[in-house]
Amino acid sequence: MTSTALDLERLIAAAADAIAAHADELTTLDRAIGDGDHGANMKRGFEAVRAEAGQSSAKPLPDALKAIGTRLVMTVGGASGPLFGTLFMALGKELPGDPDRADLVAALGKAIDAVAARGKSQAGQKTMLDVLIPVQQALASGKRDAEIRAIADAAAEATIPMKAIRGRASFLGERSIGHMDPGARSTALLVGVVADHLGSIA
Ligand code: ADP
Ligand code: MG
Repeated sequence: MTSTALDLERLIAAAADAIAAHADELTTLDRAIGDGDHGANMKRGFEAVRAEAGQSSAKPLPDALKAIGTRLVMTVGGASGPLFGTLFMALGKELPGDPDRADLVAALGKAIDAVAARGKSQAGQKTMLDVLIPVQQALASGKRDAEIRAIADAAAEATIPMKAIRGRASFLGERSIGHMDPGARSTALLVGVVADHLGSIA
């Protein structure tokens, strides 16, 4: 799978569209348990990635992913910018130019470890990891694309009863319970878009 076969340019546009369409929802979620900037942060970052989509998608997939990760670190800001940036940069580092599903499972596992190390976080702490980890497990167990999207959405929902242990929401302690984590929701949106475009991988 080359960047061209994957049609990275269309994938980037679809991701930026999904974030833009849900920016108000992400803001509302972050207003409840954070500082209300997650929608604007993600929209700024993905519009910057969209603006470079032509150049990035002309690169080999690993270089394209590293370029996307670097741009996200520079533009998203907040706690989530370096974490999403780490996710994409690590995927770029780990994936071969023409990955199959097994490569994707392995690379996502390594990328999750990189995010967890960067955030000093782990599963169950009401963060983006609570979507990434079940999605990686679903990919590893051979789940297909529509199932993966449903698993990501359910995983974001499953952050509602969690108490936040990392990030700004952790300042609320017990009062973080009862709200969906904004970073889990944005991650599920991105997973949904990627799942729609994975048909070209065996
Ligand atoms: P900030 O919290 O600085 O305002 P954002 O609002 O953009 O940044 O992002 C908040 C999201 O970042 C959270 O909902 C959570 O999913 C994620 N997050 C924050 N801290 C961590 C961490 N240490 N590990 C993993 N994810 C984190
Ligand atoms: Mg915030």
